[in-house]
Amino acid sequence: MAHAFIALGANLGDARTTVLQAIHDLGQLPETTLWSHSSLYRSAPVDANGPDFINAVAEIATSLSPQALLAVLQTLEHNAGRQRPYRNAPRTLDLDILLYDDVTLDTPTLVIPHPRMLIRAFVLLPLAEIAPDRVSSAQLQAVSLQAIERWRE
Ligand code: ADP
Ligand code: MG
Repeated sequence: MAHAFIALGANLGDARTTVLQAIHDLGQLPETTLWSHSSLYRSAPVDANGPDFINAVAEIATSLSPQALLAVLQTLEHNAGRQRPYRNAPRTLDLDILLYDDVTLDTPTLVIPHPRMLIRAFVLLPLAEIAPDRVSSAQLQAVSLQAIERWRE
């Protein structure tokens, strides 16, 4: 089984419920177990429009290949009502593969590690929460000015 880290983000509708449901759904994917997940975070949109985002990162153990994993994640996005009217549009659910074991992949449809993960506080903070060995303090420092907070009830 490979271990993969998935970034979850939503900023339309009931984003908190959508992200919590998606975390649960990750554990229901074929050949996949939900290993752990971060708290929920709230972040201002970066290069995107609309309301604040709810973000989280989940770790899964899976026998799916990276491409097969991307396909099932896109099905979950679609089932959550995801539309892509234009680039960086507000989204009901975004599921990105951050890391897949130590695999590096650069294809037209899938790049791993995710190319923008290191410039996004909303990825690095929740990732560091569940996998501190995967994020350095220098990397956290580099995104420390971005507006993000741990979700409080
Ligand atoms: P965003 O870049 O805002 O997440 P989308 O969710 O619409 O935008 O994704 C656009 C495309 O990015 C997808 O169709 C997918 O093929 C591609 N992609 C490349 N690498 C990855 C990755 N690591 N995880 C998810 N999607 C990826
Ligand atoms: Mg995406």
